[in-house]
Amino acid sequence: MTKKIDGKTKVLGIIGYPIKHTFSPYFQNAALDALRINAVYVPFEVEPKKLRGTLRDLAAIGVSGINVTIPHKEKVVPLLDKVSAEAKAIGAVNTIVFKGGKSIGYNTDAEGFLISFKKELKVNPKGKAIIIIGSGGAAKAISYVLAREGAASITFADVVYRKAKALARKIRKDFPRCTCRAVSTTRSQLNNAIRGSDILINATPVGMKALDPCVVDPKALHRGLVVYDIIYNPPLTPLLREARKRKIRAAGGIGMLLHQGALSFGLFTGKRAPISLMRARLKKTIGR
Ligand code: NAP
Repeated sequence: MTKKIDGKTKVLGIIGYPIKHTFSPYFQNAALDALRINAVYVPFEVEPKKLRGTLRDLAAIGVSGINVTIPHKEKVVPLLDKVSAEAKAIGAVNTIVFKGGKSIGYNTDAEGFLISFKKELKVNPKGKAIIIIGSGGAAKAISYVLAREGAASITFADVVYRKAKALARKIRKDFPRCTCRAVSTTRSQLNNAIRGSDILINATPVGMKALDPCVVDPKALHRGLVVYDIIYNPPLTPLLREARKRKIRAAGGIGMLLHQGALSFGLFTGKRAPISLMRARLKKTIGR
C-alpha cells in the first residue's frame, strides 16, 4: 500500500544516535496504516549535543510525538515541560507527546517489559528472587516495575560495580520491601547469586554481536530459573540458547519492544494499537 501524504499528515518518529538500526518505523507505520491514521513515523538521528535544540525544533514544526532511544532516554528528562510520575521515578523517558506547545514525557519500557514477561513466561514476579545483569537505562525501568509488582529481592550485577550499587540503593529507597543488593561480575559471586534466584534477566548488550558469549556462566543456569533476555536482535541469543538446551523457560526481547511500542502508539494516537499486526510486521522485519 502506498502511503498518502497530504497537508494534514501528522509526523511521529524516533530519536536516537545512531538510529539506522531501529525497527520501530516498520511496525509503527504498519499500525498507522492499518487504522487509517493520517500520520507517518520516521527516524531522526540526533547527536547528543543537539538534543535540547532538536526537542525545541520538533515542537516548533508541529511533530506530534516521538520515541526516544539510546543514548537520550535519561538526558531528555530535565528538558521536558512535564514528565509522568512513573518516568520521573525511573529516571528515563522513551516516549514524548507534544501537545498544546508542551512536551510530555512517559516511560513505556517498564510496562512493555512487564506485559511481555507475564505473557510469555507466565510468571508473576511477586515474591520472587530476581537477578538483573546490567544496570543501565533498561535495567532501571525493569527493576522499577518488578519492585513495584512485589519482587521479594533484586540482585544487580554490572561490570561497573558502582552502577549496580547505585541502582540497588535507588530501588531499595523507592521500594523498601524489596531487598536489593549489588554483586560483582566475578564468576563465583555471579554464579552464587544466580543459584539463589528464581528469575534471571539480561539487560546488557552482550548477545547482540555474532561472536558474543553467553552473558553468564551457563553452568549456573538451573531448572528452577526462568530467563528473559531483553535483546531482540538476534532473536536467539547465546543466553536463550543455553537456557533452552537445559529446558529452562526463556523469552527474548521482541515482546518488550512490541509492547513498549504499542503503549507509545496509544499515547500518540489515543487509539488501541493493533498488536497482532505489529507483532507480525516486527517478526517479518527481524527475519524470524
Ligand atoms: P546501557 O544503558 O548501556 O546498559 C547496559 C549496562 O550493562 C551497562 O552498564 C554496561 O556497562 C553493562 N554491561 C555490559 N556488559 C556487561 C556484562 N558482561 N556483565 C554485566 N554488565 C555488563 O544499555 P540499555 O539501554 O540498558 O540497553 C541494554 C540492552 O537492552 C541493549 O542491547 C538494548 O538494545 C536492549 N534493549 C531492549 C529493549 C527492548 O524493547 N527489548 C529496550 C531497551 C533496551 P558498560 O556501560 O561499562 O558497558
